[in-house]
Amino acid sequence: MMEQEWTRDYHAWAGTPPEVQPRFDLAVPRSACPQCSHPIAWYENIPVLSYVALGGKCSACKSPIGIRYPVVELVTALFFASAATHYGTSVTTVAWCTFSSLLIALFLIDLDTQLLPDDLNYLLLWLGISIALLGWSIPLASSLYGAIFGYLSLWSVTKLYYLISGKVGMGNGDFKLLAALGAWFGVEYLFALILLSSLVGSVIGGLLLVSGKLANKDIPIAFGPFLAGAGLVAMLVGPANLQQWAPFAFPLGAQLH
Ligand SMILES: [Zn+2]
Repeated sequence: MMEQEWTRDYHAWAGTPPEVQPRFDLAVPRSACPQCSHPIAWYENIPVLSYVALGGKCSACKSPIGIRYPVVELVTALFFASAATHYGTSVTTVAWCTFSSLLIALFLIDLDTQLLPDDLNYLLLWLGISIALLGWSIPLASSLYGAIFGYLSLWSVTKLYYLISGKVGMGNGDFKLLAALGAWFGVEYLFALILLSSLVGSVIGGLLLVSGKLANKDIPIAFGPFLAGAGLVAMLVGPANLQQWAPFAFPLGAQLH
């Protein structure tokens, strides 16, 4: 959908006639097997259960269904359960379920494409500020300062690095993502989130090195997955536990969640 939008934007900008694009959105076309185009019935589309029932194969052509589908579904369920454990039966739980869905999507999209789409980053940012405004999470000021300093901290480091080295170390998407995380956790958590993203980066980088997928150490890796991973780890651990277990990561003091 976003690629179609980029093509339309390009033609509008270049003043060239737009291409004819088939309708492609969340409703149309219906999900289909990428191998044989067999339309997927609703009962073949139930998270995890359908994958198990179908034995991991398309019901029509028997080609294998990617393991990524049930894994993403299971991981999402784990985060939903974690939100329910931390916040019980409340609207805050629903908010954090949305948070984890968006971050899992951002994590995987950035790993695949090195892009953090604005559509998801801004949605995450505005939702974080909105739920603070509604009184469902942290004080509004903490959320707003989190967004502002989340953006500015990475932006200024990247500008400085560019002045010194002439290389662009991080993209705009990374600034927006840390701004969004700041809006959800509050300004007090920014330092802890940056520390956590370095930790997540070391683990992912180490795994890539060990698995041989990172043969050339000079290949740039996107920072977005580490930031998204940090947000997910912080949510899983629970903001309150994070303060308790790693007080050194809270030089500004802490805001109770
Ligand atoms: Zn098929």
